[in-house]
Amino acid sequence: MGRLGMSAPASEDRSGARTGASVGARPEGRGVGVSSSLRGPLVDKHGRVHRDLRISLTDVCNLRCTYCMPAEGVPWLARENILTTDELVRVAEVAAALGIVEVRLTGGEPLLRPDAVEVVRRMAAIEGEQGPLEVSMTTNALRLPTLAEPLREAGLARLNISLDTLDRGVFKTLTRRDRFDDTIAGIEAAIAAGFAPIKLNTVAMRGVNDGEITALLRYAVENGLELRFIEQMPLDAGHIWSRPEMVTGEEILAALEQEFALTELPGRGAAPAERFLVDEGPSTVGVIRSVTRPFCGACDRVRLTADGQLRNCLFARTESDLAGLLRSGGTDDDVARLMHACIAGKLPGHGIDEPGFLQPDRPMSAIGG
Ligand code: SAM
Repeated sequence: MGRLGMSAPASEDRSGARTGASVGARPEGRGVGVSSSLRGPLVDKHGRVHRDLRISLTDVCNLRCTYCMPAEGVPWLARENILTTDELVRVAEVAAALGIVEVRLTGGEPLLRPDAVEVVRRMAAIEGEQGPLEVSMTTNALRLPTLAEPLREAGLARLNISLDTLDRGVFKTLTRRDRFDDTIAGIEAAIAAGFAPIKLNTVAMRGVNDGEITALLRYAVENGLELRFIEQMPLDAGHIWSRPEMVTGEEILAALEQEFALTELPGRGAAPAERFLVDEGPSTVGVIRSVTRPFCGACDRVRLTADGQLRNCLFARTESDLAGLLRSGGTDDDVARLMHACIAGKLPGHGIDEPGFLQPDRPMSAIGG
């Protein structure tokens, strides 16, 4: 760990993406070279099979949400360490050979990478064990007015959009940027481009947006969006998260039930959200109780940071240096071996609610949410 580099102001061209060939790319003309003995699924010691790879495209963001990033002085990842398009695609190809079926692109803000559409196009063309990789994205929507159509055309399957408030003033305080109208325009662009379902992610915060819980669901239902409330996790850059201050899933459900009839839907599988039918449907709402009701026992996720570090948990305190391997001539078999080893070392749970829990050194923006 510890690859956080210089401090500099963010702008839309600071994503660090380098689209050209790089030392970590597979030599030209060579196909994916994972030996059959390594092609098995990514299974950890607790029997969990990993099918979902979250890739952070950049740690740079155009918002500064208080629960995620500091206002200023962000310790950006060193630009030369950010994986290139070719390196990202190579990792996704090896992952697909190891049973990964979904790649979710995130950040930072993934749409700040100039090659975001190209990354989607190339990843959506990768053949996995059960057909083409399903490529999805988590975004703040600010760049969707221009990019929603190209992303859909490039093969992006699904969109998750973050929206914590419907109040322009609260948005400005919470994100430290006056861009509420751009976010709403981005959501409208995603709907117009035909993405369905579109999920909305809302982090509930006491004294900030906890008075808007029912209004947010009303907005989602009226616009055909699937809202998911997320319990705030200790991943802020300032390390000021406080367990007693956190709005719990139970409180969120109690607030929703004041206005809506909720019926729990069975069959959650490895999904983080508990889902409920709203007023007998067809709309649904989700609650992600990462803190008060962890779902680590069913976790099938593995994460790649923008600087090429593989993490077997959002809260992992160790990382596997995939970038170093790629850039020192590692073969696809070497990459596959490192992925297997990383997953093998996964702990049974994140331990947020246990005494002695230590927040990871990287903030959420540098891990990829
Ligand atoms: N910029 C993109 C966006 O806004 O969706 C992608 C990255 S963002 C880190 C991904 C998700 O992580 C967002 O939905 C955000 O609300 C969530 N997130 C960030 N910090 C969090 C925290 N401390 N607890 C819970 N969720 C968090």
